[in-house]
Amino acid sequence: MKLHCEVEVVSRHLPTLGLRNRGKGIRTVLSLCQQSPRSQLRPACLLISTMKDKRGTRYELKENIEQFFTKFVDEGKATVRLKEPPVDICISKANSSSLKGFLSAVRLAHRGCDVNTPLSTFTPVKTSEFENFKTKMVITSKNNYPLNKSFPYSLEHLQASYCGLVRVDTRMLYLKNLKKLDLSHNHIKKLPAIIGDLIHLQELNLNDNHLQSFSVALCQSTLQKSLRSLDLSKNKIKALPVQFCQLQELTDLKLDDNELIQFPFKIGQLKNLRFLSAARNKLPFLPSEFKSLSLEYLDLFGNTFEQPKVLPIIKLQMPLTLLESSARTVLYNRLPYGSHIIPFHLCQDLDTAKTCVCGRFCLNSFIQATTTMNLHCVAHTVVLVDNMGGTEAPIISYYCSLACFVNSSDMLK
Ligand SMILES: [Zn+2]
Repeated sequence: MKLHCEVEVVSRHLPTLGLRNRGKGIRTVLSLCQQSPRSQLRPACLLISTMKDKRGTRYELKENIEQFFTKFVDEGKATVRLKEPPVDICISKANSSSLKGFLSAVRLAHRGCDVNTPLSTFTPVKTSEFENFKTKMVITSKNNYPLNKSFPYSLEHLQASYCGLVRVDTRMLYLKNLKKLDLSHNHIKKLPAIIGDLIHLQELNLNDNHLQSFSVALCQSTLQKSLRSLDLSKNKIKALPVQFCQLQELTDLKLDDNELIQFPFKIGQLKNLRFLSAARNKLPFLPSEFKSLSLEYLDLFGNTFEQPKVLPIIKLQMPLTLLESSARTVLYNRLPYGSHIIPFHLCQDLDTAKTCVCGRFCLNSFIQATTTMNLHCVAHTVVLVDNMGGTEAPIISYYCSLACFVNSSDMLK
């Protein structure tokens, strides 16, 4: 029985000698070996083999374990504390289900019970076994795509481009160490929600696929904490959900060559965004929250920006409907809401409420006006929006009352 992981063996004498451990494991093959092949009792021992020491170091297990530390076993980490020698075997980067199986076998060996799995022999570990530690894999053609072989679980960077994939391979979704996933130039139509379970995923490249949407589930997954760079260029996306702006760690976002007719209107909430390109889409306007962005680079070339309308659209209700007035109150006071309390369509209304320049909200009673803004106000480097040399784009703004509209028009003058 073997486990591929990283191991650091820490002597508990180190602190008394005034020394500290390195705090970093090295690639290891852990094997549970049989002490002597002919022995009936089969007391098993633990063999720790590394690239430098393929023969490995042997540790007795029978009645020799002081404690197991398994709080983070789901993250592929655990520590086995031995009595003699007084060391802690710190395991990390293991596949969590294999680790659980391995630890229960170790536990049996400690009790002197029969380990119900085939034990390894003491033959030195082959170099090829260390291939399981590959962290990067680049596949750029169908022919090289592994159909019968699994992906090394330790992969941190996986690229599978030009492979004709029509969906995300489920085997990739078990690669819990993935930081970079590049599936550009395939035919993927839909993203499974469990991509959001890749807790370390920082870069996701889906350039040149057939995506039509980016789901709310993904926007609300752990990607909120990890995803820095997202490339959705050359797809067929018409709109992104409001919740997209919850991907707060995003710094780079590419949306070129899609069919976007609007940005998520809370885009200003993407405080870390530095690089934004959405060239060759169908954007007629930018949302007013666009003004809150603080970018280094912005490319909106080749959109179908409309001329700002001279007259505002007035949709003020007098008096406000009960719905309008309660919605404004809920949002202004940040009262929590959800489909478990109120009907789903009301949640959607609240999610898509418009923000007035005064910071209050409005649903159906508002004044809508368009102005222009120079994109240099939000980005250091701006690609021209058209061939005429312009860097101005129309912004759509909402006002909750006549007073807010008049005040802001005065400010503009
Ligand atoms: Zn207002």
